[in-house]
Amino acid sequence: MTKIAFIGLGNMGIGMAANLAKAGHEVRAVDISEAAVTKAVEAGCIGAASAEEAVSGADVVISMLPAGKHVELVYMSDGGVFDHAEPGTLCIDCSTIDVATARNVIVNAEERGLSMIDAPVSGGVGGAAAGTLTFMCGGKQDAFDRAKPLLDIMGKNVFHAGEAGNGQVAKIANNMLLGIHMIGTCEAFNLAEKLGLDAQTFYDISSTASGQNWSMTSYCPAPGPVESAPSNHDYQPGFAAAMMLKDLRLAQEAATTARAATPLGTQAEALYSLMEASGKDDLDFSGIMKLINGSL
Ligand code: NAD
Repeated sequence: MTKIAFIGLGNMGIGMAANLAKAGHEVRAVDISEAAVTKAVEAGCIGAASAEEAVSGADVVISMLPAGKHVELVYMSDGGVFDHAEPGTLCIDCSTIDVATARNVIVNAEERGLSMIDAPVSGGVGGAAAGTLTFMCGGKQDAFDRAKPLLDIMGKNVFHAGEAGNGQVAKIANNMLLGIHMIGTCEAFNLAEKLGLDAQTFYDISSTASGQNWSMTSYCPAPGPVESAPSNHDYQPGFAAAMMLKDLRLAQEAATTARAATPLGTQAEALYSLMEASGKDDLDFSGIMKLINGSL
């Protein structure tokens, strides 16, 4: 049994913490929301009043927080995790955050004699509850090896992407590509329809031709061809446009720092920003179809 401090029990964290508790680990749950802690206790965790209380004596600290500033605050502020964790403690940050902060927090952890990896996920709330997330990890091999048995409980695919921050790099590069091919797929279906070709016929042809891609065949943004896709359910998420925009912004921030040319990533961010400006970013990210076809 591993003693785990779990910080951040929101939509994702609650399912992840519950799965660790179900597997027999001692999970001390911390969140600034009391309601979130209560839910975690109902799911088999032990409620902790503060990060200090949860981290003291813990073997592992896991966090699932909204953004880089929260991660910095939780780990590096006075009285934060790094002030209370015992030497050798393994920290696993599963939040999706900017690459620079992820790398900085890990360097800081190592300077204090702790081990740390970044381990952002894909798979959404359903994957967190079901224990089927994909983890993309960055950090030292021995830290990854220690984390893997716990990540295997929360997920079904666990990758080591290399040095600190590389988990975040994998996540934002993948999601930038996803945003781009989703928009391209919307444009193709819209063009076909405007020229008199119905969605199903275009799907039947393109899905077996060179335009085939995941956005088309698993998540078709045009209603009809893929029954389970959000397009057939009023574009209810799924993966909300707001979350896609968060990842596209992180990608643009990192691309600027790295001087990587991402002209289509820039366009994707601009288009999802228009969904946000229209107040429609709570739709699934495939709802960008409505922006493209003028029905938003
Ligand atoms: P969420 O907002 O539901 O949960 C975050 C939790 O962190 C909240 O309960 C909040 O109260 C808590 N928190 C914030 N500051 C804190 C602090 N200082 N101390 C303790 N707790 C604090 O977010 P989520 O949907 O669970 O997402 C978490 C992370 O996972 C984000 O980085 C997100 O980008 C990423 N992610 C989310 C999804 C998804 O589908 N929701 C999918 C993949 C990745």
